[in-house]
Amino acid sequence: MKKVLILEDEVNIRSFVVINLQRAGYTVVEAGTGREALDRLQEQRDIQVAILDIMLPDMDGFEVCRHIRAGNKQMGIIMLTARTQEMDKVTGLMTGADDYVTKPFSPAELTARVDALFRRIGQDTTGNGEVMSQGPFVMNTRNHTLDKNGARIRLTQVEYSIMKLFMRNPGKALSREDILTEVWGKEYDGELKIVDVNIRRLRIKIEDDTANPVYITTVWGFGYKWGA
Ligand code: CA
Repeated sequence: MKKVLILEDEVNIRSFVVINLQRAGYTVVEAGTGREALDRLQEQRDIQVAILDIMLPDMDGFEVCRHIRAGNKQMGIIMLTARTQEMDKVTGLMTGADDYVTKPFSPAELTARVDALFRRIGQDTTGNGEVMSQGPFVMNTRNHTLDKNGARIRLTQVEYSIMKLFMRNPGKALSREDILTEVWGKEYDGELKIVDVNIRRLRIKIEDDTANPVYITTVWGFGYKWGA
């Protein structure tokens, strides 16, 4: 059973999301406030993806996201953002989310994003997995972990997927489009900027000096390259 939480205080939008996700085969849990969402997630540990609105009566969606991430790195998180919100502000605040969808959105768009997150969560959970060791980094695809110099680095699903792509392609320049397609899926129709947002976050986690990255380098006008 694939379970999704939708946090949205506007009943009309929430119902619209619920109906469409149910049609797509998901079990949907509803919440109208941040508090309620955190309670539902606490009670129902099998929720794997959370869709969070930002403007809420009790706290903002980013705060809910931070609360979730404090105890759960595996949860897929999608933020619902309004077109009026400046993207820079949104991306700056997107400290732990995997993706965002801009309102107004079509049911097909949101369902595609949720499908993409579930595909990623489903990856690497079966089979023997492999261990990739490069420089100070060791990735174990069975356990879904990344260590640097023996210390565990906590990654979100998306960050992990990007790292796996990098470590499978050492020294190769990957275009932002390649990264988007590989990590978010072919059906993804969001902006390329989501790649940069996640790379910025990854650098904070894995580089010694974020201002002078040596592991994930920028290939100007093209994309990024991994070298460890
Ligand atoms: Ca709202």
